Amino acid sequence: MAKEENRKILIIGAGLGGLAAAYYFAHNSYNVTLFEKHPSFSPRGGTMSVRPNATRSLSNWGLHDAFADHVAAWRFRDLRSGEEVARHVNEEFSGYADWGVDRGTTQGVLFQAAEAAGAVLEFGREVVGVGDDGDRAWVDLGAGERVEGSLVVVADGIASRLRRDVIGVEVRPVFANATNYPVELDGEAITTSGLRQDLANSTDGVVWVGQGKYAIGRYAPKLDKAWLVFDIRGEPAAEQDRELWAESGNLNHIRTSFSGCCASLKSALSSANRCDRWNLAHLPELPHWRSPNGRLILLGDSAHAMLPNVAQGFSTIIEDIDALGTFLAEHTIAASTEAWEKLRMPRVSKIQAYAAAAFQGFSGGAEAGENGLPDYESSEFLRWLLDYDVGEEARGQCFLEG
Ligand SMILES: Cc1cc2nc3c(=O)[nH]c(=O)nc-3n(C[C@H](O)[C@H](O)[C@H](O)COP(=O)(O)OP(=O)(O)OC[C@H]3O[C@@H](n4cnc5c(N)ncnc54)[C@H](O)[C@@H]3O)c2cc1C
Repeated sequence: MAKEENRKILIIGAGLGGLAAAYYFAHNSYNVTLFEKHPSFSPRGGTMSVRPNATRSLSNWGLHDAFADHVAAWRFRDLRSGEEVARHVNEEFSGYADWGVDRGTTQGVLFQAAEAAGAVLEFGREVVGVGDDGDRAWVDLGAGERVEGSLVVVADGIASRLRRDVIGVEVRPVFANATNYPVELDGEAITTSGLRQDLANSTDGVVWVGQGKYAIGRYAPKLDKAWLVFDIRGEPAAEQDRELWAESGNLNHIRTSFSGCCASLKSALSSANRCDRWNLAHLPELPHWRSPNGRLILLGDSAHAMLPNVAQGFSTIIEDIDALGTFLAEHTIAASTEAWEKLRMPRVSKIQAYAAAAFQGFSGGAEAGENGLPDYESSEFLRWLLDYDVGEEARGQCFLEG
């Protein structure tokens, strides 16, 4: 049970991080209020994976049955010929499965779970400032309205406006000069495109690796849908505005760019009728994820946005929440957030470096393992990454005093 003074948690942002935190803390008997600036709940986004280091926690939190499309392995194919070059079996490294999800559905699952657990979710509520002192934390909602709590969780995304209030310095996202175009296909389009053969007959995800570009695809048997993502590097300026996410991708542009790829991907692109557009970016390492008083923390992309290639963005957020909850259950807020930062920052920084290396590797660039980085293909590294029990790690920490 949480210490009495820890009980009122204010969360900013109804993205995956904010909603997962709202569920976790409400489920564990905290008093939770979440503020989201969008006027209504609007789940959006394409394919994502949840890795075993996070499915372990989500299963412990009681959410296994809400997700549960398992991905048995990742197949790597040549983008031009479609031929398979490698297959990585996920469960080799952990007793927990990879889950294939999409962002919109995941947001929906977390929203419903958070509400059912008793979290208050307020939409159309933009937070304009956050602050704390030794005894309390607060969020400012404009027009002089201030709400106080014991801890404020700032999960306002990569382009966070509130980050500066937490850590005292301005840090901007670094654009990767790469654009992802998510495409969704229904059952009929999967059949006509020939993708059923490549994707729908197995629970494997597929990465088509090329020079300067790649595609990723996965089929969801429960929904009879497939999600594809097409990645293009060094776009012309017209395709490359600085908006991070838009529902206005140019399908003809992807068709042209991928005209030399294998037959099934080409016909998948002809069957599609729209796509989104996502300008990839990451955050440089921050000096801190908590305020000096310890009652404001950054969670998720506002703390450690990373390139998406190893599917750890959401999974590391789940680890963050589990670790924080474990500390808060036994210790004061300041001691908990200090211990949390010490435990989490080194691990996440290593995962961010892995994501950056994979970002190069998928498009035929430098291999992971070069330039003195750890050998990311080694069993030792993959076990460290995937077979990780964050709750046990947090309980084993000895740097806590109070
Ligand atoms: C639209 C969209 C689509 C995405 N699609 C994919 C995808 O297909 N695949 C994938 O792997 N990843 C995708 N991502 C990225 C992925 O969701 C994030 O990397 C990750 O889950 C981190 O989530 P987060 O909660 O930290 O931030 P986000 O998901 O960015 O959520 C931040 C939330 O905070 C809200 N907010 C911001 N400022 C304020 C404020 N001042 N007051 C109140 N609310 C505020 C925003 O409106 C937003 O809802 C997408 C992100 C977005 C925003």
